[in-house]
Amino acid sequence: MNVPLATLRDLRLTFPGHEVPALDGVRLDLLAGETLCVLGPSGCGKSTLLRLIAGLEQPDRGDLLWRDGAAPRIGFVFQEPNLMPWADLFANVSLPLRLAGMSRREAAPKVEAVLARVGLADRLRALPRELSGGMKMRASIARALVDEPELLLLDEPFAALDEITRWQLNDVLLDLRRRGAASVVFVTHSVYESAYLADRVAIMRARPGRIDSELKLERGPERGPALRRSAFFAEDCARIAEGLQQAMGRAA
Ligand code: ADP
Ligand code: MG
Repeated sequence: MNVPLATLRDLRLTFPGHEVPALDGVRLDLLAGETLCVLGPSGCGKSTLLRLIAGLEQPDRGDLLWRDGAAPRIGFVFQEPNLMPWADLFANVSLPLRLAGMSRREAAPKVEAVLARVGLADRLRALPRELSGGMKMRASIARALVDEPELLLLDEPFAALDEITRWQLNDVLLDLRRRGAASVVFVTHSVYESAYLADRVAIMRARPGRIDSELKLERGPERGPALRRSAFFAEDCARIAEGLQQAMGRAA
């Protein structure tokens, strides 16, 4: 049996000064080796849920239980690439390693390897302003992966990018997963993105935020651009859109 990497049990989180909790009764398993997409309308608590998983927020009720008794190493990717503008890609991507006390010499092969995985092998010395929006996001993903996290959390990372760039970055993520990178929790408000990336989709509803339904996406090992034109994909999109509509219909 696949023991969940983490189990979220009846989590509630209320922000100071708020009467209605941002999250209440959140139940969810995170499975090792899985890409879970969390989908829901704006303001339903997706970012708050991700921050809870990352340990950046504390629940006021319920449990977040980790399989190994403590949280694994976690990488976090935000909507903005948040690169240091004065520093080249090597310095930006090596930052987590350098903060952990690693020398430049030790960090170099790890940085080179992770930049190659996101298609930026030849841009080690580039400054952020010399890169396109998509390249900056690739660098941001590389920085999150450089210390080999077991769990990668992404909060609407591609929402500010044009559609073609977004598709390319979706394929970068699929490629990382194929090579056995971290388990992934990917927050999005895009039905298409979740249908393309997810093994499982958790749909949230708002006020208070909670998981309204879960969908397991059954399809063969084949992923990639051809999926977008397949009947499978159209069916998954329809199922997810229906779930989202139901969740929004139940919101106050
Ligand atoms: P989403 O990411 O789904 O758009 P958020 O998790 O950002 O939603 O927000 C969920 C709710 O919690 C919203 O009503 C938002 O205004 C509120 N909220 C988020 N962060 C804070 C905070 N730091 N303090 C107070 N309220 C917050
Ligand atoms: Mg958000």
